[in-house]
Amino acid sequence: MRKLYISADIEGCAGVASQHALAADRFEWQDARRWMTGEVVAAAEAALAHGFDEVLLVDGHGNGHNLLPDVMPDGVRLLRSWPRALLQMEGIDTPGIEAAFFIGYHNGAMGDGGILAHTYSSAAFRDLRLNGVSASEGYLNAALAGEFGVPVVLVTGDAETAADAKAYAPGAVACIVKQSVGFRAAAALTPREACAAISTAAASALTTPRPRPFRLEGPYRLEIDFSTRVAAEMAAYLPFIEQTGPCTVSAEFATMAALMRFISFLILFNPNGVVGL
Ligand SMILES: [Zn+2]
Repeated sequence: MRKLYISADIEGCAGVASQHALAADRFEWQDARRWMTGEVVAAAEAALAHGFDEVLLVDGHGNGHNLLPDVMPDGVRLLRSWPRALLQMEGIDTPGIEAAFFIGYHNGAMGDGGILAHTYSSAAFRDLRLNGVSASEGYLNAALAGEFGVPVVLVTGDAETAADAKAYAPGAVACIVKQSVGFRAAAALTPREACAAISTAAASALTTPRPRPFRLEGPYRLEIDFSTRVAAEMAAYLPFIEQTGPCTVSAEFATMAALMRFISFLILFNPNGVVGL
């Protein structure tokens, strides 16, 4: 059975231009989840038309319930809700996955511009650095996929996201569905045009020679600039965490999977049992 992996976010989908599209209590979220679903379906259908039997699709944004299951083509396995140890890459360790698509992605918190640029949680993190490199979600997620031998072959989002992807997936096809005008303004393709562009880009990504996975040398040092001093102070209660600045901590991990589990813990842990995304 041939398997493709899709990690989906919403900020990089055509049409999405501000926080009003990002959360269930905002006026545009119901529309934005349809736009996101359309883009993901276009990508999944292209994979299924190019010899793949199964698409493992991960809803990687907000409440984890953005994507609409009813319109998914047969062969899609939709992974939803939280918590998950590997966040936007849950299931990437499933044996037999040949390649990954990143759909609706965005630039990192300290990246060079881009619509709604942040890294996992703008409330929690100012920056994440992996072995000294300021890392976007795409960079960290691709490094995790690389650990399991999976190359990223398609990245969609704005032009800044495509530029960022050169660092972690230089051989991937980039599909630009909008131009950021600023942090929360964008000029986008229509949803239908974006879906057509993604369908074409996905077909191209699957019919050209596979790029190599993005494998980094371990061990993996993660530095986190938190948004608050108290977060850094409390993270350093853990014996393997060193506080290196007022808002900064540092820790070393033997694998990318262990590093991602730690990020997941920081974002999602709540001792009262309520997950807060
Ligand atoms: Zn998101």
